[in-house]
Amino acid sequence: MSIVQRACPAEGAQLDALTMHCDHARLIDNLGLEQRSWWTPSRRHFRQKITVASQMRDLTEARAEFDWLRAGSTVGQQGALRDLDRAFTNFFARCSGYPTFKKRSGARQGFVVRDLAVRRINRKGGEILVPKAGRVRFRISRARTDICAATSARIALTNGRWTVSLTTPPVPRRQASTTPVVGIDRGVANSIATSDGRMFHAPGFSAGEQGRFVALQRRLSRQQKGSANRDRTKAKLARLRLRLRLADRRGDWIEQTTTHIANTYAAAVENLPIWYLTRRAKPKPDLDNPGVFPPNGGRAKSGLNRAILASCWGKFAQRLAQKMSVVAVPAVYTSQECSNCGHICPENRESQAVFRCQGCGFEHHADTNAAINVRDRAFEIEHQPGGILGDRVCQSRKRAASTVSVA
Ligand SMILES: [Zn+2]
Repeated sequence: MSIVQRACPAEGAQLDALTMHCDHARLIDNLGLEQRSWWTPSRRHFRQKITVASQMRDLTEARAEFDWLRAGSTVGQQGALRDLDRAFTNFFARCSGYPTFKKRSGARQGFVVRDLAVRRINRKGGEILVPKAGRVRFRISRARTDICAATSARIALTNGRWTVSLTTPPVPRRQASTTPVVGIDRGVANSIATSDGRMFHAPGFSAGEQGRFVALQRRLSRQQKGSANRDRTKAKLARLRLRLRLADRRGDWIEQTTTHIANTYAAAVENLPIWYLTRRAKPKPDLDNPGVFPPNGGRAKSGLNRAILASCWGKFAQRLAQKMSVVAVPAVYTSQECSNCGHICPENRESQAVFRCQGCGFEHHADTNAAINVRDRAFEIEHQPGGILGDRVCQSRKRAASTVSVA
């Protein structure tokens, strides 16, 4: 896990060196991505497959040839290739989309530092040895003990703010043997609802902040690329992002909520493929008038997509799975099914918040009802011994059986 520290590169020369490393990492990443996209199944017979190892060899050759590339840090450049390899691994594991080219104007730039030499210099400050830049000072904003445990670091420039993230060994996952099992339903009005009736809300923009943001983004989209005015709007957007710190607030919320849940329960999470849910609405061509597209609800869908992405579902599930055992269950009809009698129909859901079963009249908060369904499905999937929840399910079944026999 990494911790983020705020760096403050003091002198111009240091800043230049850090920027150079970012530029090189981006260049290597883009070249590596282009090289990988050459490979096609039809070429497999006469060209060797491009791997991270072959690309490292190519990098060594390129460094021998170009002085300006040799002036950069080997580790940072190799780190970019490793990051690219990771991106492809994630893509083939269906965890993320196809890797994209990085822009100089992108919101986030960064590079990796290995062979870590980092130390505390006073109560609030530390310094890290960066190749070609010397000792760069930073402000410690997380636990000081993490500095000793760190194995590598990543220096990044995000919205005009330099940060150092120190990578530390992950905390072992909690075992789900003694804690109760909870179902988790992810939603838009309530970001997270648990089966025991609790709600968690991800931090978001207020209406005014959202308005300013959208206004700036609209202005940006109208301005000519490469113009001075566009740069000015971009800087304004970056300052707004920095001041509101939405990404920081959301990250903080995710860490605190997942830690809380991991300490309290053994969880079950709905299995929602987020990339699939947040696709844009398909245009519906009008068959009688070619070239005409009647309304398809695209705007409403975009709004919903934005709300889904703002609820941080993906990052939440990822961090939760890193902290505890999580069972993924099929998500179909969890919001329409009655957790009392199992009756499924869309009319069960009276409104966003109210669930009233048309079959048995059971009434509950709609999100809590869905979370209970998720929990029950996790029990059904994990009934075999050796499953993550195996023992607990056996216990609960035994309890259920004895109650019946006594009655
Ligand atoms: Zn019912």
